[in-house]
Amino acid sequence: MTVVMILLAALWILGIALRAPIRQRLLAMAAAWLGSGLALAVLPAGNGLSQALGGDLRVWAALSVLALLAVGYLAGLKRLKVKAPAALALTPTGKFSPEELDRYARHILLREIGGPGQKSLKAAKVLVIGAGGLGSPALLYLTAAGVGVIGVMDADTVDASNLQRQIIHKDQSIGLPKVQSAQEAMKALNPYVEVRPYQRRFDADSAAVLEEYDLILDGSDNFDTRYLANREAARAGKPLISAAITQWEGQISLYDPAHGTPCYECIFPERPAPGMVPTCAEAGVAAPLPGVIGAMMAMEAVKHLTGAGLTLRGRLLIHDALFAETRVIALSKREDCPVCGVRP
Ligand SMILES: [Zn+2]
Repeated sequence: MTVVMILLAALWILGIALRAPIRQRLLAMAAAWLGSGLALAVLPAGNGLSQALGGDLRVWAALSVLALLAVGYLAGLKRLKVKAPAALALTPTGKFSPEELDRYARHILLREIGGPGQKSLKAAKVLVIGAGGLGSPALLYLTAAGVGVIGVMDADTVDASNLQRQIIHKDQSIGLPKVQSAQEAMKALNPYVEVRPYQRRFDADSAAVLEEYDLILDGSDNFDTRYLANREAARAGKPLISAAITQWEGQISLYDPAHGTPCYECIFPERPAPGMVPTCAEAGVAAPLPGVIGAMMAMEAVKHLTGAGLTLRGRLLIHDALFAETRVIALSKREDCPVCGVRP
């Protein structure tokens, strides 16, 4: 048996000298071992080679079993070591289940989001005012992105005329409250987020709800709500992503006067007279336009919450879909702004 051991050791050393991969060295040694077993099995007892190999097939078989056990143990250990980084990856993200890690894998892969960013999204609470054209894609993408708590506020019910662009709602949902219809779609898309429906108009009473959220998205379709949302978000010190669309054009910005940016009223101090700016119902709107701008609202929200890139803080993006043109203009604070100015 000593001869076999010396042979195996020689093969190992030869493998190192030839810089053969460990797998090849082990294969050569296994072949030598099997050869010695075969020789023991076929050679008659007392044969010179058989004696040199130990002379007893049972010893060879016992050593084979021990070797197999050792190889199996080492392979199992290696597999555990390979698995260890995945198990460790759970630690920084804390409460993510394996299903959630799989669901958000493409986000976690992004250098700018990663595990910490995804954790920030899960910890975030975002309120979306309006479950209409802009709210539909914004709500769906916030849900898909894994924002932990999403509030949705809207007083309306789903109407057939909404379905041309309000893609969160279904034909079967006509007549249902929009917040209920939206909640069903969101839970169907991602059961790991919490949806809080508020079936009411955003007014001075419901403004207290803002306190519960980290970020407000305003996709409402009227000036009353837009100005009030700006005023209340500024008062509560909450950042506001506000967007508006009409016909072929949309605009969006992130207003955060508590942290130095202008507010909506800094930029649009003159409230249009009632009836001067036609609503979507009066003027029409291209179906995918709220999809484009509403998705941008969700994009800005994800960036704001994860700290990725450069958001639209202090900048207004204007998109003209009819001519496929987009402009971004820098905004400045008005000192005499009645909402956020130092000399209101
Ligand atoms: Zn202002």
